[in-house]
Amino acid sequence: MPTRLLIKRFVLWLVIGICILPLLAIPDSNVEYVHIGVFVLFHPQILIFHPATGHQFVFTDSTGKIKLTAVPEDGLEIQLAGERLRVIMNGTQQEASDVQIRPVNSKEEDFDLTIPNKIHRRFQGTLDIKVEQNSLSPVVVMELETAVASVVAAEAQPGTPIEGLKAQAVATRSYLIAGKGRHTSFDFCDSTHCQFLRSIPASGSKAQRAVQETRGQVIVYKDVTLAAMFSASCGGRTRTLLENGMKVDENAYPYYSVICKRCQRSPEHWNVRLSKQQADVLMEHPTEKERLKVAHELSWSNLPSNDFKIHSENGTFIAVGKGHGHGMGLCQRGAAAMAASGNDYRMILEHYYPNTSISTIQVH
Ligand SMILES: [Zn+2]
Ligand SMILES: [Zn+2]
Repeated sequence: MPTRLLIKRFVLWLVIGICILPLLAIPDSNVEYVHIGVFVLFHPQILIFHPATGHQFVFTDSTGKIKLTAVPEDGLEIQLAGERLRVIMNGTQQEASDVQIRPVNSKEEDFDLTIPNKIHRRFQGTLDIKVEQNSLSPVVVMELETAVASVVAAEAQPGTPIEGLKAQAVATRSYLIAGKGRHTSFDFCDSTHCQFLRSIPASGSKAQRAVQETRGQVIVYKDVTLAAMFSASCGGRTRTLLENGMKVDENAYPYYSVICKRCQRSPEHWNVRLSKQQADVLMEHPTEKERLKVAHELSWSNLPSNDFKIHSENGTFIAVGKGHGHGMGLCQRGAAAMAASGNDYRMILEHYYPNTSISTIQVH
């Protein structure tokens, strides 16, 4: 190729680079972000990325070299290629050790991510993809308040009044800030392990209003933000860490057993058949850890809570219990009922998290 043409090309790329770089959304260091490992149970070998309508995304690798710009019409495929990944768009292929996908004009935009024939989901934020343990590891990076809204929308029981949603929002924000570090490559995963299985709430929804009206508020215990646990339905009273067979450090929030009027009046009952071995284990160690182990064997929904008794009928073992979830902290069913009878979110949080206070952190 003639030198003049080479120089011309170089100048052209330089100009394109200078024009595009300022448009790239560089994460704001003052904003709290949450990193969520998605599709973790699928060990993806192929991912299809689609920008949502109207949004442009730029793909870079960790060397910072701009590779590709994806417009809404483009479907972009990311394949596992040995220890690296291959990005395919419009018939062109490029290999890299990782890829970061950022919207061109803002900090967060919607995009769709698909594993062909397995799962499809819409996310909001930016996306990092690495190769880990012979599969692609997609991590969605969301602003904290977006993440809180996603969890509140997903967790809210139908018909929960706004004050109940606000209590859920404050508990969730606290959990997301203080509960980080469950994984090495990201903060939370989207399996039942972390239960971060969410899509984005519609703007103007009650969930979003609850998040906006409690912006930055967290639950604090001994001057530290509490990784506030919550469950769907407590069975009549909430449980302590000790009751669930968990370690209680001196400075850790012990959780308290408080009466939950809604569940006490009409607990959610369930019963489950167990093998002799499962029954023996649970009778000897009635802990949350053992419950989750047995629940996993039975499939997740099948040992809903730790509040049960086991009896045998003609050689068959049956667990008869109440409630759904570990029963520690806020009871979502009880919180909805408290809100419906006129309590505000502060009263609800005070009830389910005794000896804590609410404090406001700076979010941008
Ligand atoms: Zn996890
Ligand atoms: Zn309850």
